[in-house]
Amino acid sequence: MDILRTPDEMTRYAEAARMSGERIAFVPTMGFLHDGHVALMREGRRRASVLVASIFVNPTQFGPSEDFGRYPRAFERDCELMQTVPVDAVFAPEPAAMYSPDAQTWVEVTEMTQGLCGAHRPGHFRGVTTIVAKLFNIVKPHVALFGEKDFQQLRAIQKMVADLNFDVEVVPVPIAREKDGLAMSSRNAYLSPAERERALALSLALRAARETHREGACCVEQIVHCARRVLRRTEGVEIEYVSAVDADTLAPYPPLTRPILVAIAARVGRTRLIDNTVLEPALTDVHIEEQ
Ligand code: AMP
Repeated sequence: MDILRTPDEMTRYAEAARMSGERIAFVPTMGFLHDGHVALMREGRRRASVLVASIFVNPTQFGPSEDFGRYPRAFERDCELMQTVPVDAVFAPEPAAMYSPDAQTWVEVTEMTQGLCGAHRPGHFRGVTTIVAKLFNIVKPHVALFGEKDFQQLRAIQKMVADLNFDVEVVPVPIAREKDGLAMSSRNAYLSPAERERALALSLALRAARETHREGACCVEQIVHCARRVLRRTEGVEIEYVSAVDADTLAPYPPLTRPILVAIAARVGRTRLIDNTVLEPALTDVHIEEQ
């Protein structure tokens, strides 16, 4: 596995691969890898002849009071895990190699980043779309894999790719969960054993939302209400938001005839966790007659 430390090295590698007719799959990560990341890498492996992953804790997507400094890092262990996939090349630059002090350019998706996490993390998505645009220019992938765990991020990147004509296929990968339902996340490492128990409230709340939807909820407000009730009854879980939005546009107040994203952000102790599920519209009488 090649380890590339500068944008120049990475670009030369990508250009050589493209010149030899290879198809490049790319998985951007912030490291401290888990099985969710590995699922993205395996999907990339299936879809291309060369698999590149990046490990870069991107400073511009963290707010001043967020966890950039203490974000978990374990490069050696990450490399061992990536070799099992196997990943062909890892791009792991230092921040100074990615951002020059006199940079003036941002890439920003303006509307669909306003709600959900965007409302609570000012500047976060601007940092995400800027670094992903830079990584796409450096790695030159044909296909890039993103997890549905960060659903708003996935939609923002799809919008950026469409709006700016990036020649990259964006492939969504479903959420990888622990056996008991907790969505895998590098930040789960922050949780004490007691907090780890409490964190289950997020996936349980989403399960309640799914049940309410399946049993014929009258509106999205009822679905949100049920999810909130589950979160509220767990002590030590502080809700940041519970929202139900259109799963394609992320617009609020979707009718139940649309696919609906139910998304949660909550703090368990000092740790901010997110999770979500997509509810597909129930089959209507019209659909059943058509079958
Ligand atoms: P991160 O390292 O947290 O920035 O995540 C890198 C990529 O892995 C992003 O596309 C995430 O959405 C994806 N990812 C993180 N956790 C999961 C998970 N539990 N299931 C699927 N994808 C995930």
